[in-house]
Amino acid sequence: MSECVFCRIVRGELPSWKVYEDEEVMAFLDINPATPGHTLVIPKKHYRNILDAPDEVVAKVFKVAKKISEAVVNGLGAKGVNVITNAEEVAGQVVFHFHVHVVPRYSPDELRFEYTPKKYSEEEAEEIVKKIKSSLG
Ligand code: AMP
Ligand code: ZN
Repeated sequence: MSECVFCRIVRGELPSWKVYEDEEVMAFLDINPATPGHTLVIPKKHYRNILDAPDEVVAKVFKVAKKISEAVVNGLGAKGVNVITNAEEVAGQVVFHFHVHVVPRYSPDELRFEYTPKKYSEEEAEEIVKKIKSSLG
């Protein structure tokens, strides 16, 4: 996976504004921040996204995402955070190396996540619950 941008950042072949590193995880500023302090947390080992990464890796990455969340609140004066991971093109994933976005939120800021909320019928909700439950490992 030598073409992977984030693998290249891990290897030091591309520059990054690194904020955290341990044996397995790294965090650096997103190059096109949604808000100041927007940080990406990644496993050093390459996995495509959350659907591909083992549970232990996901747990480690989210543990660091929590640390970063606290740091942007305490250090940058953010009032909250959005913690997001995109998996596959349909969800807006552009870099196919698992990463979690920690997006600091300020009051006010210009970031909006917009969608039109829908309603379930009773039958639809029951059918969906049934399908999800029967697919849980
Ligand atoms: P996603 O849509 O979840 O795949 O987001 C990929 C993110 O990676 C985007 O927010 C980009 O701005 C960010 N990004 C891409 N290349 C770099 C880079 N070299 N350094 C830091 N962030 C990057
Ligand atoms: Zn990679």
